[in-house]
Amino acid sequence: MEKSDLTPRLDWPELKLQLEELTENAPTSESVDAWLRRWTELAVQLSEYATLVHLATMVDTRDESAHQLYADYIDTIDPQAKELDQRLKQILLDSGVVPAGMDVPMRRLRAEVALYREENLPLEAKLAKLGMEYNEICGNWSVEWEGQTVPIAELRRHVESNDRGVRERAWRLGADRLKQDRQKLSRIWGEMLDLRLEIAANAGFDSYTDYAWMSWGRHDYSPADAREFQQAVLKVVTPALSRQLERRTETLGVDSLRPWDLTCDSRGRAPLKPFSGADELEHTTQKVYARLDERLGNWVAEMSRDRLFDLANREGKAPGGFMTVLPQRWQPFIFMNAVGMSIDVRIMLHECGHAFHVYQTGALPYMQQRDVPMEFSEVASMAMELLAAPYLTRDRGGFYSDEDHARDHSTQLEYIIFTWVMIAIGDALQHWIYANPQEARDAANVSAKYLELFSQYYPHVDTAGIEDEIAWNWQRVLHFFLYPFYYIDYGLAQLGAVQIWANSLDDEKQAVTQYLAGLALGGTATLPQLFETAGAHFGFDEKTFGNAVGQIEDRLAELAG
Ligand SMILES: [Zn+2]
Repeated sequence: MEKSDLTPRLDWPELKLQLEELTENAPTSESVDAWLRRWTELAVQLSEYATLVHLATMVDTRDESAHQLYADYIDTIDPQAKELDQRLKQILLDSGVVPAGMDVPMRRLRAEVALYREENLPLEAKLAKLGMEYNEICGNWSVEWEGQTVPIAELRRHVESNDRGVRERAWRLGADRLKQDRQKLSRIWGEMLDLRLEIAANAGFDSYTDYAWMSWGRHDYSPADAREFQQAVLKVVTPALSRQLERRTETLGVDSLRPWDLTCDSRGRAPLKPFSGADELEHTTQKVYARLDERLGNWVAEMSRDRLFDLANREGKAPGGFMTVLPQRWQPFIFMNAVGMSIDVRIMLHECGHAFHVYQTGALPYMQQRDVPMEFSEVASMAMELLAAPYLTRDRGGFYSDEDHARDHSTQLEYIIFTWVMIAIGDALQHWIYANPQEARDAANVSAKYLELFSQYYPHVDTAGIEDEIAWNWQRVLHFFLYPFYYIDYGLAQLGAVQIWANSLDDEKQAVTQYLAGLALGGTATLPQLFETAGAHFGFDEKTFGNAVGQIEDRLAELAG
């Protein structure tokens, strides 16, 4: 996209008048279709503006006027828009009309309206402020590395070093830095917990867990299901991880596996360099997807043509990688900071999966129908990381030699096992926290619980002498502070993605067709329906996990053989 395309235009007073007009005509069963289309037409103008304003601050963080526009949007337009949005939702619900294809979206709207309490607004503002304080503390961490002050993110590279001494030094340095802010973070933690309990009580809930469930719109599974997820991981995935880590211990040739031995290349090889330059990433990805399925390849080509990629890392650009939708033109936009590493290829494949979701939902008439729950939207992206894998070798148009591809694919599959365990620990910790809020108010008790879970879920990792550092590591996970319970979503989506991948090993064409059918439903179906349409089972049980882990281990054995 050209910079001029990122210059957003909006006549807010006019748009506001039009939205207000809509509030004056409550919909009837005859008029509701036109009413919802009109609401969509108006709302996407505003959200397109907000997206563009935000993007402009990301593609060039030094652009002062973009920051000013964004600040103005947040301070003046956004609160007015939110208030109008709330009114329109209420009017739709009060009308008692449920138009076709809106059963499931209406469930979400009903929950949002039901949770709304005026007295919670100042509490939420306080929470947001504490969240900013948390981000400021953790975002500004820097450490001394070999005589230079470097941002803590740099340490990640050293924790993956092939030199064990370097890895340990980097790991300990990160833990020490965290320790310096332990008191501050613990104070923030306690205050946030109190506020959350108060918010839940104001909304009429005895437990914050139940409140959070409803506020995340989790209508298709319960806290008990999440506990089943944790147990299934412990029973089926942890043993698989132990097998994996046993192999790693052997290959590394160490006595026992320490936390800094988990992510380096176990054979001491140099990092892979699959491409050089953002153009190569873009074009090769297009070829990969075209081989997997013509429709997917065409979409990537369309994105290139319409300049919907900003992939290169450059000075002044915000960090990170994501797909965002431009709501009015209903097109995806992918933002990345690619530098030529294999993780960049994975992120690109992932974000393209989100982009395919956008293309598949464009025909849905109301914006509420295009809103897809996290547990499924991540299936769209994670499945593509796996389905694209067979086309990543150079002889099939991809990025890698056969040998490098085997290495990359193994790392990818091993990481899935690792992540499920990490997610289960995080989820178990949070269920414990909100079931025992009085105890959990003291951060030291949370640390003790975290260490207990860590030892249970990662029995193969040697924690001798570093128990304290590991126990407090939970304070580094921003989800626990900022987005309680938002963690399992990834684990569930990954389970869906692995099932779709398993389907593709039998019949690739069929697997992609089912995948696209699932995406086309947008947010109009329940999670079990979305998963089923895409060819997966929405389950948390040992059997579903067992099958998925079995597939991964079989493939890993093939790649090793
Ligand atoms: Zn994603």
